[in-house]
Amino acid sequence: MSPPTDMQPQSRTNLLGMPVGELEGYFDSLGEKPYRARQLAQWIHQRGVVDFNAMTDLSKALRQKLVETATVGLPECLSRHESADGTVKWLFASGSGQAIETVFIPEATRGTLCISSQVGCALDCAFCATGAQGFNRNLDAAEIVGQVYFAIADLPRRDNGEPAVTNVVFMGMGEPLANYRSVLPAARLLLSDYAYGLSRRRVTISTSGIVPHIDRLGDDCNVSLAVSLHAPNDELRDRLVPINKLHPIDALLDSCWRYAAKHSNRFITFEYVMLCGVNDTLAHADELASLLVGKPAKVNLIPFNPFDGNEFRRSASGTIRAFQERLRRRDLVVTTRKTRGEDISAACGQLAGKVSDRVKVRLGEKTMRDKTARAATA
Ligand code: SAH
Ligand code: SF4
Repeated sequence: MSPPTDMQPQSRTNLLGMPVGELEGYFDSLGEKPYRARQLAQWIHQRGVVDFNAMTDLSKALRQKLVETATVGLPECLSRHESADGTVKWLFASGSGQAIETVFIPEATRGTLCISSQVGCALDCAFCATGAQGFNRNLDAAEIVGQVYFAIADLPRRDNGEPAVTNVVFMGMGEPLANYRSVLPAARLLLSDYAYGLSRRRVTISTSGIVPHIDRLGDDCNVSLAVSLHAPNDELRDRLVPINKLHPIDALLDSCWRYAAKHSNRFITFEYVMLCGVNDTLAHADELASLLVGKPAKVNLIPFNPFDGNEFRRSASGTIRAFQERLRRRDLVVTTRKTRGEDISAACGQLAGKVSDRVKVRLGEKTMRDKTARAATA
């Protein structure tokens, strides 16, 4: 009896998330030259072609081999919403009724795509909608890159004919460094000249601070790093960003300076969510400045974005301005993030997707440590 036809694609290798080096190995196993793998990567990621038979500069025999052994599995888009300010949010199926979200933020000189790396998040930061959802699973590299592929195909090109997506930030759902195994190949594809060809300044990984993986990333890949600091001392950070109990501020900052040193002392962005009456006083600003002054550091203040069931409030705009000014007086480079896409719940920290069957996470430090370690090395 022959297997059901819908089983066949699953047994084929999905080439969408394979970094070019790995693709070359795959082609080698087919008895093909490495440059053929590079051609294939260009077809997929630069020309948006996924039908092997349309790849006219590959031999007919190779195309046939690819049809038989491989596939380019694209994400399934469940919905698309566009905000009054031009921000676009897609919901993508991630199996078993789960879904993840991806957001595009257009600006005059660039278009930033904010991508997800996990279905939910296990780290349970006190102010984050994704954290409140809990964790279901890691995305694989194809599911991460698929968000970029899809957005580029879906959005009109820029006036200069370039793709709409000029920058990619891992700031959607999930903690990217807790899914290192998939995030690294995805980041490599974003940087590769045979794929998306983005410069390291245009690819940013944002992390809540998984120290060993910041060190690993510094060795493996050269992308911009953003760190969700959010508090200037351990007592407060333990409450807001619970992973701090495992990797406290001193250890986190040391890993940041090591990362910067590996990449010609490039600046690290420290994200700081402005929570009314919690972390937004001038005393907090002074404490924060003392941690960062004289270091390769920039600060990005993020006005808190509210979501159902959360009791924090956004700091008043005057408070945010005063906080920013206080840091600037200490010679720090500080920006305040513009809130975009709020009307479609696409702003920072509002992404919830659909996460069911989640692993219970609010179980205290030991369980969190086990879970993080498991997710990180999975
Ligand atoms: N897990 C990663 C990346 C995803 S979150 C991280 O934590 O860095 C991207 C940024 O949005 C982080 O700085 C995060 O702390 C911030 N954020 C989360 N919830 C938010 C909210 N409700 N309002 C504003 N920013 C929020
Ligand atoms: Fe996870 Fe980042 Fe949200 Fe924290 S802020 S719960 S690490 S997604």
